[in-house]
Amino acid sequence: MAKKAKSQAANTKSSRPQNEVWIYAEQSGGKLSEVGLELLGKGRELAHKLSAPLGAVLIGDGIMELANDIIAHGADVVYVVDDPIVKDYTTRPYALSCISLVNEFKPQIFIIGASVIGRDLAPRVASSLRVGLTADCTKLRIDDYTDPRTEKIYKNLLMQIRPAFGGNIIATIVNPHTRPQMATVREGVMTMPKRNPSHRGEIIPFHVKFPSSELKVKLVERAVREKKVNLKAAQIIVSGGAGVGSKENFALIEELAHALGGVVGASRAAVDAGFIDHDHQVGQTGTTVRPKLYIACGISGAIQHQAGMAESAKIIAINTDSEAPIFKVAHYGIVGDLNVVIPRLIKAYRAGGTSTAAKILANEIKCVTTSGVEVNG
Ligand SMILES: Cc1cc2nc3c(=O)[nH]c(=O)nc-3n(C[C@H](O)[C@H](O)[C@H](O)COP(=O)(O)OP(=O)(O)OC[C@H]3O[C@@H](n4cnc5c(N)ncnc54)[C@H](O)[C@@H]3O)c2cc1C
Repeated sequence: MAKKAKSQAANTKSSRPQNEVWIYAEQSGGKLSEVGLELLGKGRELAHKLSAPLGAVLIGDGIMELANDIIAHGADVVYVVDDPIVKDYTTRPYALSCISLVNEFKPQIFIIGASVIGRDLAPRVASSLRVGLTADCTKLRIDDYTDPRTEKIYKNLLMQIRPAFGGNIIATIVNPHTRPQMATVREGVMTMPKRNPSHRGEIIPFHVKFPSSELKVKLVERAVREKKVNLKAAQIIVSGGAGVGSKENFALIEELAHALGGVVGASRAAVDAGFIDHDHQVGQTGTTVRPKLYIACGISGAIQHQAGMAESAKIIAINTDSEAPIFKVAHYGIVGDLNVVIPRLIKAYRAGGTSTAAKILANEIKCVTTSGVEVNG
């Protein structure tokens, strides 16, 4: 349980340490977004390394209760702007809230989820504060940095790591001179910490004065389109790539996914070819997934695809090309035509009468990486 919220508006110079690690706890419609909770796990790790408290920023209307959940996920302190003006997300009032909080409490690091909201909010906050921002980080860690020109050593900087140049290199970016060090992190990249209701933290209400110049945008209507598939939550994903060949042939992918109790994913090439909707795309510019089982069918395994699925617990790849890069990350590889392999897999699975995909792995497939398909039954 969180400590009782402080009742005073906390806009007096705080006695809080000014070196906290902050994450933005995004909420929408009174519900915390997963990405904010995911950041709490990484935030805790960074804060531990720096021996600093972990703070979270929560903005909305009537959302004070959510602060307890944020504390249960690891925050030591939650700064809450609770005001009808910020009931729904609009850029300027939300940015002003973050900027006012940063100016008051001076965190050393501020991480925001690269959601639709985060991608709008973070650059606005960073540019107003005149600090750097690295977008779409896939890894973050604390390390020392030596300036190659001056040889000056900067201790304990945030290493902001992300793919660059279309994913062909991995760049590490540092901000030695400005604070806070700001980064956005893609959804699903960090692991969500377990909820610990006994974790203690402090809730600090914060009042922001919103001048009328910041309230130019009025939200007239809010329309939310639900995603067609929840890839992040799926335990089994069967993904099809360009090798599937056509929109009609994607029925084969759907049939295997259905048989295994999983959902359908896709590579970008399959999406670009119009075989399936973008909601199904896995990868750097799609969804990052970590299912128990990921079956890649007719997917070459480009680095941008791997960025979204390489953390899956078990990966099976089906591909006609034994040299396809997907086999480098696959635990089991089947070299063969998916039009032959998938129907046999479905048949073998159904004949087995088992409800677990593991049974397929263990008993039904003789895994091969070079010499063609071998499926029992
Ligand atoms: C900035 C950027 C972001 C990107 N983001 C993403 C992303 O989020 N997700 C993503 O997936 N890609 C992304 N890409 C694209 C990526 O580089 C690849 O182009 C894409 O992943 C290729 O998709 P694919 O493997 O389906 O197609 P291909 O590379 O064309 O591979 C098709 C594979 O199917 C195999 N095949 C063909 N016929 C059969 C058959 N009958 N049976 C079995 N196998 C067969 C072939 O051997 C081949 O390996 C991005 C690229 C850039 C530059």
